[in-house]
Amino acid sequence: MALQRPKGTQDHLPDGSPKLSSDLRASAFAFVQDTARRVLERSGAQPITTPLFEEAELVKRGVGGSTDIVRKEMFTVYYFGDHGGYVLRPEGTASIVRAYLQNGLKQLPAPLKLWTHGPMFRAENVQKGRLRQFHQVDYEVLGSTDPLVDAEAIWLMWEVVRELGLTGVRVKLGSIGDPEDREAYNTYLRGLFGAHLERLSGDSKDRLERNPMRILDSKSEADQALITELGVRPMLDFLGEEARAHFGAVQAYLREWDVPFDLDPSIVRGLDYYRRTAWELHHTQVGAKSALGGGGRYDGLAEQLGGAAVPGIGWAFGIERLLLALDAEGVALPEAEGPALFLAALDEEGVGLAARLALKARAAARVEFAYRALKPGSAFKEADRRRARFAAVIGSEEAARGVLRLKALASGEQREVAFGDLGTFLREHA
Ligand code: AMP
Repeated sequence: MALQRPKGTQDHLPDGSPKLSSDLRASAFAFVQDTARRVLERSGAQPITTPLFEEAELVKRGVGGSTDIVRKEMFTVYYFGDHGGYVLRPEGTASIVRAYLQNGLKQLPAPLKLWTHGPMFRAENVQKGRLRQFHQVDYEVLGSTDPLVDAEAIWLMWEVVRELGLTGVRVKLGSIGDPEDREAYNTYLRGLFGAHLERLSGDSKDRLERNPMRILDSKSEADQALITELGVRPMLDFLGEEARAHFGAVQAYLREWDVPFDLDPSIVRGLDYYRRTAWELHHTQVGAKSALGGGGRYDGLAEQLGGAAVPGIGWAFGIERLLLALDAEGVALPEAEGPALFLAALDEEGVGLAARLALKARAAARVEFAYRALKPGSAFKEADRRRARFAAVIGSEEAARGVLRLKALASGEQREVAFGDLGTFLREHA
């Protein structure tokens, strides 16, 4: 058998491909990206790109040594049999904060809103909606602790979902407080779970010392059963005065702007650098892997990376998860359009001329041409297969007169268009 793609990766394919399921359409993937880009750029977010691989140390410090991502899921980069301490990035935030610090972006007007999209890599156990290479749209705001920035960030996610046409989405909102609040909560959790050590999964036993809050995030069913049984008090009970006021302000803005949300004490986020506001967007129909995206504030991250203190907040959508949700809701996404014009020569001498006319007409519209001479019937059939709006043929007689014979494929109507008028015709009709 021919070589296969690696486990946990996907091919996104052109419309009309024989093995296409609707969540694997490259045109749908592009539609999601374009929608996010439109929403984000309207808000003043500026594009940024960072490398696909980074120092392992950046990821360790940025994502947190106690996370599954760092402990079990990093793809290490090898070259010439050696490895330079690099890993494929598992998420975008640490890289963007690194780029901000390294490139002096503090000089730009604050708060600085940045966005990016691209592949992320985690060596996870593969299942539907959980891949090893997946794609995120990422939004990060640096340089402000204002709760208005938090609320706007959540609003932007909601806006992307709305513009995509999804309806079955819930915002789950929480706050994980300031570090001292988390410490108090962790002390409480250590006491509580410490008394039931034998019932915790191996991973959660490890977490009990390092970061007991992560137990609440556990993927183990036994852990989740124990959490329910013990009636664990929520983090929200442990918020200090400032974190509580901040959280109250975020909620007030969201209510004012009609963004529906549910308070969810179980939102702890898998990554270590979060502070205060944390949230996830879930879909009601995509099953176990229902998180479409999530975000949070990370005021301590820049310092953790060895830089100056810069507050930040950000979120990421999983594009493949959005595609699954669109598929589950049966949202009709625009099909990739065919060309405005498909142009063919009727004899070999005319092929170069037809191509030249097509290349020139591309200033006005999408135009494709035949790479060899075709009979009129085949030319129209080829145009139809490509879903072109118009087909045109040039024979020696037309070439001599400087005209194209053009047919509108929907109506069958035919007419002649002079070479020099082709651009204007396409601008007006295509
Ligand atoms: P995180 O960076 O873990 O907060 O993830 C943000 C979003 O990325 C999640 O809500 C998912 O939509 C998506 N995501 C995370 N991990 C995966 C994965 N392994 N496969 C597919 N999507 C993922």
